Amino acid sequence: MRDFEGELAQRKTAGLYRTRRQISGPQRPALTSDGRSLLSFCSNDYLGLANNPANIDALRDALPETGLGGAASHLICGHHDAHHELEQRLASFTGRSSALFFSTGYMANMGVISALAGRGDTIFSDRLNHASIIDGCILSRARVRRYPHGDVGELEAMLAQTSGHKLVVTDGVFSMDGDVAPLKELARVCREHDALLVVDDAHGIGVLGPEGRGSIAAQGLSEADVPVLIGTLGKAVGTSGAFVAGSPVLMDYLVQKARTYIYTTAMPPAIAVATRASIDLIEKDDERRQHLQALVDRFRTEACALGYQLMPSQTPIQPIMVGDNWTALELSHALEERGLLVTAIRPPTVPEGEARLRVTFSAAHSQSDLDRLLQALAECRHLLAKQDVAV
Ligand SMILES: *Cc1c(COP(=O)(O)O)cnc(C)c1O
Repeated sequence: MRDFEGELAQRKTAGLYRTRRQISGPQRPALTSDGRSLLSFCSNDYLGLANNPANIDALRDALPETGLGGAASHLICGHHDAHHELEQRLASFTGRSSALFFSTGYMANMGVISALAGRGDTIFSDRLNHASIIDGCILSRARVRRYPHGDVGELEAMLAQTSGHKLVVTDGVFSMDGDVAPLKELARVCREHDALLVVDDAHGIGVLGPEGRGSIAAQGLSEADVPVLIGTLGKAVGTSGAFVAGSPVLMDYLVQKARTYIYTTAMPPAIAVATRASIDLIEKDDERRQHLQALVDRFRTEACALGYQLMPSQTPIQPIMVGDNWTALELSHALEERGLLVTAIRPPTVPEGEARLRVTFSAAHSQSDLDRLLQALAECRHLLAKQDVAV
């Protein structure tokens, strides 16, 4: 039998062992973690809607009408009015002709990719795509070709060499780097080489573009340019679930073929009602996005001035590059000693030698929360000094 214990011990020695912390109370910047209060800079609740009173009220008010459980899959008897209305709302919000509500973004990626490509087809996937895209590619049994991160030239050369059905998949905003995919260029090469473009906008929906419509809208693109949009609802939207949006033909095809849609219980319909309330807020509330952007801009200026190495990101995902696993953990621990929660991200989530602190901002952070983060980073800067010498 495999030596599970030995493998765990090996992970510990390599600085790769992962643990969970236990949170009490609602998600917000001031978290209670294992009984201690910490100021968090690591959630994906970009707009501070995970604990929004209007959305909580919408959920509570919906429950007597919808009941609690989803009870069956969508194709048996689980497809509720509330799911249907949310799908229409998501389609209009993203400027698309139709949408399909999934239980999680992970399942949406697995289901969509494995439904839209199969044996004999080729999937082109950005090297830094999210794990759920990678797993969807594996599940599809298609040939998978990973292209260098954001390298449209290289992708185009690969597409030109390939015949048959082609799928190009990319994150809209890259989850560990925070940069945005060159969607305009990707749309162009996909059109020229007859490839179907799929964009996973988990971190763009609600945050980027006019009214928070996401990174596709932010780059002035439409359904004709990017036929398949995947979005999650557990991040900026602050509830739970995910969706795919595109043409009615594609949605119909997914209802027939996406196994993670077909063989799972429908989400509690009340969640769909609360999500609709959240979308209403997102569409109206530019102030949240403006405040969020102001925090990001100030952080970039001041963290750079402290000598930290940031990545070329304008989004709320602002990684501090460290490199070595142990140093990343050390910096994260030093911040925690100062009451701040910023997680170290290590391989395999990021490439070997690219461990980092993934700082994320939320509209729920105040300028004085940011003061505290910058003050702590100033105090901890010496931890990275030895690295600079090595470089
Ligand atoms: C978080 C994330 C997902 C998964 O979404 P869930 O709804 O949390 O399962 C998919 N893709 C990307 C890029 C993500 O960051």
